Amino acid sequence: MIEKFKNVVVVGGGTMGNGIAHVFALKGYSVTFVDLTQETLKKAIETITSNLDRQVKKGSITEEQKNFTIQRILPSTNLPDSVKNANLVVEAVNEDLELKAKIFEVLDKNAPSDCILASNTSSISITKLASFTKRSDKVIGMHFMNPVPLMKLIEVIRGYDTSDEVCNAILELSKDLDKEPVEVNDYPGFVANRILMPMINEAIYTLYEGVATKEAIDTVMKLGMNHPMGPLTLADFIGLDVCLSILRVLYDGFGNPKYAPCPLLVNMVTAGHLGRKTGKGFYDYSQK
Ligand code: NAD
Repeated sequence: MIEKFKNVVVVGGGTMGNGIAHVFALKGYSVTFVDLTQETLKKAIETITSNLDRQVKKGSITEEQKNFTIQRILPSTNLPDSVKNANLVVEAVNEDLELKAKIFEVLDKNAPSDCILASNTSSISITKLASFTKRSDKVIGMHFMNPVPLMKLIEVIRGYDTSDEVCNAILELSKDLDKEPVEVNDYPGFVANRILMPMINEAIYTLYEGVATKEAIDTVMKLGMNHPMGPLTLADFIGLDVCLSILRVLYDGFGNPKYAPCPLLVNMVTAGHLGRKTGKGFYDYSQK
């Protein structure tokens, strides 16, 4: 545990927030875990507990480490109050610029002046989020991958004004979490989604144009390119709404038609078929 980051606040207790709280608490950081309702936080802590149980079963942590980890997570529904003594805030609320802008304003007003404000955004500009604060040198992207306890990468995104000192401190902190940080600059999609989303979009176009079935497309990429899952299966896992919103950020940010989302993706999102989370996307999950 790096002492100067002792008090961490994680804002948002969804898929990513619970993984982020999990990895910080496991490494000895005190985590204040913020969401809108106690009920959401209770569910998130149940998820963390069952993920820690799995790690105990695998022998990667002890029962004692599990118990200490849970004790280090303090749930809160009061954002301004929760950041009063924070050294670092990691924001992981929904991918919505207006919502994140409001949160960054509250964080800037209430967190100590030396507190670093990080966002786990997949695609929203860090420079834009920094513009809602008076500490743009201390705003940075910490893009964790899903599922957070298992995935090694953190894409560390430097906003236009992020200082070297802050960037280096976050790279060091990421290593302390046993992650592999990679430093990138703040341009649409950063690196991960700038490369991944056009591939997923092309796979959807390949299906849309009738070149092959969904199973065939996924098999080609799995067996031919050694990808652990095919691009359509991966899109269902990420969420088709998330894929669409990231493609729109790429399309708007670069003004290049090569990023135009496939009409089939747009139709599926409009129809509410968002992948695993709704039980139906390219594949049917309703029985699972
Ligand atoms: P999610 O919908 O699972 O969770 C978002 C959480 O934020 C919800 O629990 C919601 O109640 C909470 N929230 C909303 N408004 C809030 C507020 N005002 N104060 C406190 N909490 C609030 O979303 P997610 O999939 O965990 O994504 C979170 C962020 O992480 C997004 O920016 C997303 O782009 C990014 N991300 C997601 C993935 C992924 O695979 N899901 C991967 C990398 C990055």
